[in-house]
Amino acid sequence: MYAAMSIVLFSAKQNFPLGIKGIGYWALGTLMFMVAGILYGARGLVPDWLSIACANLVMFWGVGFLLIGTQKFYGRPPTWWLFHLVWGIGIANVIWWWLVTPDSISRVIAISSLLFVLYFAQFLLIARYGERHFSTYLFGLLMLLQSAVVLIRSVTCLKYVGTNPGVLDGGVFNVSYLATFSVMAQMLTVGFMTAATRRLQILLEQRSNLDPLTGVLNRRGFAEIYAKEKARMKRDLLPRALLSIDLDFFKSINDHFGHAMGDRVLIHVASTIREALRDTDYVARFGGEEFIALLPDATAERALTVASRIQASVREARPDDLPAYTISIGIACQTSPEENLDSFLLRADTALYRAKAAGRDRVEVNEPAIRLGFC
Ligand code: GH3
Ligand code: MG
Ligand code: MG
Repeated sequence: MYAAMSIVLFSAKQNFPLGIKGIGYWALGTLMFMVAGILYGARGLVPDWLSIACANLVMFWGVGFLLIGTQKFYGRPPTWWLFHLVWGIGIANVIWWWLVTPDSISRVIAISSLLFVLYFAQFLLIARYGERHFSTYLFGLLMLLQSAVVLIRSVTCLKYVGTNPGVLDGGVFNVSYLATFSVMAQMLTVGFMTAATRRLQILLEQRSNLDPLTGVLNRRGFAEIYAKEKARMKRDLLPRALLSIDLDFFKSINDHFGHAMGDRVLIHVASTIREALRDTDYVARFGGEEFIALLPDATAERALTVASRIQASVREARPDDLPAYTISIGIACQTSPEENLDSFLLRADTALYRAKAAGRDRVEVNEPAIRLGFC
């Protein structure tokens, strides 16, 4: 089962986007569990140093790799010092209670307590950094259960200290512990994969809705936002404004300074627009050098203020190494909650063309909206 889990994890590592981190360490950790399981199982068949010392060492590495994987998954710096500290103390304890003062119960207590540290540290990470979603609850619950299993093992063994029962004998408690521990270790992989798959879903949704160059919404993302906004406008009947923003003579920027510089200008425009907007406003890149901003609950007056602010920032707050450039802006105000996106865009674009025709580097408002007094 560990081998199967490890194969699933290794293939996920190959296929998931690089932005989802930690899967490789989980695959490695699960592989270690398999090796440790084989070594434990071979007790009596192989020398004790293999089935006791090596098996436990590999086990510590396995759980340690899970911790590193979980830390990377949640974007936390990996605590390699804890990894090394735990296996170092762990193996020292194993050797002490096995060779120096033989006491298998104290050995189990030491191993279980150290495993608890590695599992519970992961539970704390999940609780702190996991998003509020079923996948996090499942992953966190499984991790908490596994922490509880090793802690209970450690605590219940305390009463046997001094006696020397076999740690792997067929007693009910031992059998239930060994079975629960193994099943839970596999279930944890299921929990982790659920969280990783959820991360993949979010990443793909973002990618399909965002413009890769500037990070603002793309046409598809904007259409989704607009559908929601339209439904909201039907309820609250508040006006909203659309800004159609186009760079002036952008082709000549590309021609003079190169396409890479053109891209940097586009990134600068996008961030300038975003800074001029409220958190509740939206910005999207529509095609090459054309941006759209949607201002829910905005009158033409506010839209004009925002447009002027964007133009001023482009002119004044430009980094020195970017070429000077200007933008033209057309504004339209929504006249009816029923109006579809195409018609709204067309009216903003009409105003934009007027701004271009009137010499560029200026703002024009869609006239009928003003005349009708909707904005
Ligand atoms: P106008 O003032 O009339 O808007 O003129 P313009 O040159 O800005 O407009 P035009 O439509 O003639 O040229 C748009 C240019 O935008 C052409 C194209 O090479 C460039 N472009 C489109 N997408 C990108 C991109 O992703 N990166 C860069 N660097 N340039 C792009
Ligand atoms: Mg242009
Ligand atoms: Mg254009």
